[in-house]
Amino acid sequence: MARPAKAEINLDALRHNYRLACKVAPDSQAVAIVKANAYGHGAVAAAQALQAEAPVFGVACIEEAMELREAGIQQPILLLEGMFSAEELAVARQQGFWVAVGHRQQIEMITQAASGQALKVWLKLDTGMHRLGVQPGAAVELYRLLAESDNVADGIVLMSHLACGDEIERPQTPKQIQCFADTLAAISAVADELGQRVETSLANSAGTMAWQDCRRSWNRPGYMLYGGNPFGHSQENADQLQPVMNLRTAVIALRDIAIGECVGYGASWCAQRPSKIATIAMGYADGYPRVVKPGTPVLIHGQRASIVGRVSMDMITIDVTDLADVQLGDEVLMWGEGLSVDEIADCAGTIGYELLARMPARVPRVYL
Ligand code: PLP
Repeated sequence: MARPAKAEINLDALRHNYRLACKVAPDSQAVAIVKANAYGHGAVAAAQALQAEAPVFGVACIEEAMELREAGIQQPILLLEGMFSAEELAVARQQGFWVAVGHRQQIEMITQAASGQALKVWLKLDTGMHRLGVQPGAAVELYRLLAESDNVADGIVLMSHLACGDEIERPQTPKQIQCFADTLAAISAVADELGQRVETSLANSAGTMAWQDCRRSWNRPGYMLYGGNPFGHSQENADQLQPVMNLRTAVIALRDIAIGECVGYGASWCAQRPSKIATIAMGYADGYPRVVKPGTPVLIHGQRASIVGRVSMDMITIDVTDLADVQLGDEVLMWGEGLSVDEIADCAGTIGYELLARMPARVPRVYL
């Protein structure tokens, strides 16, 4: 019999979430972001599930894009970090990948290449995150360099990325929106002069769901496709998302322990009443965070029970004293429907993105 730890992936929920991203921004198109193995869900399966509706997929790098091509995904695939060598550029042109470029060297690599098939280019602008992107003061000149090159297709996309889109009260997003609009105005004047179109892209999941002024020609939802809520609180669009991953396992051992007896490595939790402890097949080698705080919940029989003692590599112990009739083999949900990955991430002092993206290969993905 197989070890019971598994990540069930509900592809209907993925499609529901993608459609929600399209519905909240009806004047935009949505690039489905499937980088980092579709945030741990399996990039090929996720792209296959969305290929009838998503016009473009977004990944971090060329290796991720090739995985999708080799699996038969035919849409354009946007390389969010662009390409870093002439070889990568040649592959991108040959495969019809779209490239995001954020500095002069990347841009010159494209414009100075031997002529060939024109590439769709996204020009990344640094509107305030200061991680990637050309500076606003250099954007018009670099845009012109691209727009005048035969190696670049018409319809360059001016893009930027939000630093704080998930924090509605903070001033950074309006500032970034303003910087984007100002730079776009300057670039549009050059585009008009050259008779070219400019497309735009600013929103990630948070921007798509909560910032009207971020919704542009192309949105780039990632986390929301998997049912994650980036806001850390209820939000009208995020509340309609469905979790895609149910991380499940089962009880593999049960014992009664007396008052004063302790559980697990370091004997960090000791019973203050006669207790029933269930051991489940799930540990930090399955991507479950070792650092969760005491009392972090799991769901068993649809009810919450608390993790007690330390998370081990392959096992976790839970206190089921208050639950009626727990048996060997009973199913346990670590996160998913009824217990969000965002809540578990909060118990671990991190974000759900990290938990999903780190899900190791050892946990079988079971597609529903
Ligand atoms: N666009 C870019 C450039 C990104 O780096 C990411 C992810 O980090 C996304 C879009 C998707 O962001 P999110 O998962 O918050 O929707």
